[in-house]
Amino acid sequence: MNIPYGELKTTVVGSFPLQHSLDNMRRALTDQIEAGVNFPCYGQLLDMNLMFLEPLAKEKCGIEMIGGEAWVTGSLEVPKRPITLEFLEFAQDYLKKNPSEEVDGIKIPITGPITLSSVAKVSEKHHAIEYPDFILDFSNIVVELAKWYDKAGAGLIMIDEPSLGYAVWLGIDPDVLIEAINKPIKAIKSALPSVHVCGDVSTVTDILIQSKAPILDHSFKDFSANLESYSKDILEKADKMIGFGCVSSTPDPQLLLDIRAGKAQWAEAVESVDEIEKLILEGGKRFGLERLLIDPDCGFGGMREYFKDDTGQRIAAEKLKNMVEAVRRVKKNLKISP
Ligand SMILES: [Zn+2]
Repeated sequence: MNIPYGELKTTVVGSFPLQHSLDNMRRALTDQIEAGVNFPCYGQLLDMNLMFLEPLAKEKCGIEMIGGEAWVTGSLEVPKRPITLEFLEFAQDYLKKNPSEEVDGIKIPITGPITLSSVAKVSEKHHAIEYPDFILDFSNIVVELAKWYDKAGAGLIMIDEPSLGYAVWLGIDPDVLIEAINKPIKAIKSALPSVHVCGDVSTVTDILIQSKAPILDHSFKDFSANLESYSKDILEKADKMIGFGCVSSTPDPQLLLDIRAGKAQWAEAVESVDEIEKLILEGGKRFGLERLLIDPDCGFGGMREYFKDDTGQRIAAEKLKNMVEAVRRVKKNLKISP
């Protein structure tokens, strides 16, 4: 894999505020490609946990779906045949028919072992995340998924671990958490591997900097304190890039309600190019521009609940357009090659 230092490439975290359908996956992908995103996602329109846990249950990997919830009911086994690979195939097929010079590869989010463990129940009151062995078993499963996506030609594979902070809070041994992250990261040979942890990352940076993940992806627009999370020096020593979330994925709820009620325009929820450019330059000051991969704070799926129509998607698409435009400006001013 070629780590894209100094190229200011753009990507997304994954989800979009549309109902799950083939047409909407096409819409999400088209919007990203038209915006000029370098590593677009297939458009993750399903629940990030159930989209993996349900097929694992179907393949009898030690998980059963009971009343809409995933339960660990046997020893956790890796699936014997590929699951969820069809999403990558869909995006590859789409790109073949609609080629774009801007696209470097398809970005695939895989929900990480710690996060899958956080929703998988082992008893009425306990989840798999409370037990290091279950976390590592889930890690072995994620290794298989990562290998399949990698072999099938994904461009960027992101291990999505929003629950890492929760595991730290529970007191799970940091070595277990590092191992759980490292296993799938090490299994990725051709694609760019990254780890996404959104929200406040102050309690997890020690773990992530020790991990083998070359790209650490966080929210910096809505969590500006994260700008203090790593020093340039530490990033250089550990040789990490930062996935730099620079547009909000969950705009102010009151504004979204006002937009729904017709009291505000949807464009008001979109950051200006100037504002995004400023934040990218600030990130460059802290971490080094050459170490940034630009994306939104998190997935846009959270806006789905506010709108019955495609207003959320229009907001998301416009945010991506402005994000890519801001990157173009930064590159032009700094003479970074296009
Ligand atoms: Zn996130």
